[in-house]
Amino acid sequence: MEMGKYQQMIYKRIYDTFQKWDEFDFIIEREIYSFLHSLKGTAGSIGLNELSAIASEKLDSLIDVSEKQWEKEEWKNYLSPIIEAISFYQANLDIHDVDNSQVYSVDHVANREFILVIDDDMIFISYIKAVLEKQGYAVLVAHNGKRGLELIYELKPSIVFLDIMLPDTNGFSILQNIRKINKERMFVAIMSVKDCKENRKRAYDMGALDFIPKPIDEEILVAYVKNRLAYKKELEHSIVIDELTQVYNRKFMDTQLQQLIQLYIRNKEPFSVAIADLDYFKKVNDTYGHLVGDEVLKGFANLVMNAKREQDIFCRYGGEEFVFLMPQTAIEEAYMLLERLRKLMEQKYFIGNGAKFQVTFSSGVVEATATNLHPKKMLEEADQALYHAKQSGRNQTVMFDSIAEVVRKRLKINIIVIDDVFIIRNLITSHFKHWESGENYDIEVMDFSDGVSFLQSNWYTENSKYIILLDGMMPKMDGIEVLKKIRENYSSSDVIVSMLTGRKGEEYVLEALENGADDYIVKPFNIADVSNRIISLINRLFI
Ligand code: GH3
Ligand code: MG
Ligand code: MG
Repeated sequence: MEMGKYQQMIYKRIYDTFQKWDEFDFIIEREIYSFLHSLKGTAGSIGLNELSAIASEKLDSLIDVSEKQWEKEEWKNYLSPIIEAISFYQANLDIHDVDNSQVYSVDHVANREFILVIDDDMIFISYIKAVLEKQGYAVLVAHNGKRGLELIYELKPSIVFLDIMLPDTNGFSILQNIRKINKERMFVAIMSVKDCKENRKRAYDMGALDFIPKPIDEEILVAYVKNRLAYKKELEHSIVIDELTQVYNRKFMDTQLQQLIQLYIRNKEPFSVAIADLDYFKKVNDTYGHLVGDEVLKGFANLVMNAKREQDIFCRYGGEEFVFLMPQTAIEEAYMLLERLRKLMEQKYFIGNGAKFQVTFSSGVVEATATNLHPKKMLEEADQALYHAKQSGRNQTVMFDSIAEVVRKRLKINIIVIDDVFIIRNLITSHFKHWESGENYDIEVMDFSDGVSFLQSNWYTENSKYIILLDGMMPKMDGIEVLKKIRENYSSSDVIVSMLTGRKGEEYVLEALENGADDYIVKPFNIADVSNRIISLINRLFI
């Protein structure tokens, strides 16, 4: 819809630049470099791929810090393909060669499946990432074992491609760790150059699903991923028990809730629903580690299973959230049941790092009424009550009162673009400005032209989540420096940083990842891809 506008803008900028240069006797090489550099990234991002490719090629033989003087004839000659190209674009301004049919709404999540690649070879990582992203899969990468395990916990990827030789550990020890967690039925495929009998056997013995020898064939890789994701879907469809806690899972809960609603409609049988969420659970993980966190989840599930009434259906809703379905139970009775469990939990001790500690939970309860007879609606109301329980100090049970004015829980997600190129900022901000907000979150977009002004602004507010798209190469302060400053104060659970990089060279990406970047996007990018990636991140990490 607006792509023609961007093409026009870029054309105008090139035209203006050449006009300006024409007034000087010579131009310094680093200026030409910087012009081509941003042209490459920007042009490609808005679909002017040809122009981007020319810029890229021309860039190759220039040096970014060179003070060499280029005479008028010289640069005109050197950049003649661009001069020709813009005259072509000028003549074709009405022709929109950009596919802008792909405008994504928040609800349209192309792919919720994440694939994680753990490998120390950045070239290999980038290759796999590019191949799979081209197919619409979301791919995250880790260049060492430690980061890989972190991402496994945070993101619960569907497939993990795991290298054997890693800088800090080896793939088998990661595999062992994954087996210990043994959750979400993660598919692990070992990918290794060392294709020998011992390694294959060891991989299978330790629970890897596949062993894929390197080098990898692009078509086979894509077919593999498709095959395994389809299989995973089928498998999950038939499973109703949560692997970690051994209580019912969300899917089972869904079917049971539907049935309770049917019973209510037919026989006016009352029932109640509650959502329980452990308090400050993140702190448990941070203090004692994820394995202890897992033990707490199991401990809580055990406590409930032993103390609940026979007829109550207890399910893990996801993460550290659980749902109770209480047939033939009015809200007051449900409240009393939850309070009884809450007091038991309050007295329970857990052990981590040799120390005793306690964990509490908060819950929100709702009863079926004529006006909330939809699974989604009931859970939403229970969630609102839970939100109140959290707001008023945690470790408590709150009943949803449909008469009371309940403030709706709305998460605010901020997308921040930091890039010195106006067109890139404008492209991203105007794309997201036209988004409708999601069902339970609002999106706000901010942009900064350099890292310094970003860091000096009051960009952060509590209880908000951030996705920062950070340009790697900027005047004043390099992207990596900005990244370091962000990571000094904020972790990935609140602030996700994705580097926008036009720089060639895996080393730069590696440096970014080492300094706490969560993801990277190579310029020139396609706005639809970026947008898709952001929706996946929001859904996966924040909601
Ligand atoms: P609040 O009192 O507001 O609920 O704070 P919280 O820290 O419990 O809430 P938040 O939802 O921010 O954090 C939940 C954390 O639970 C984040 C995630 O890392 C962790 N988590 C989710 N699933 C698992 C799991 O299966 N095992 C472990 N160990 N941690 C998990
Ligand atoms: Mg919690
Ligand atoms: Mg939670």
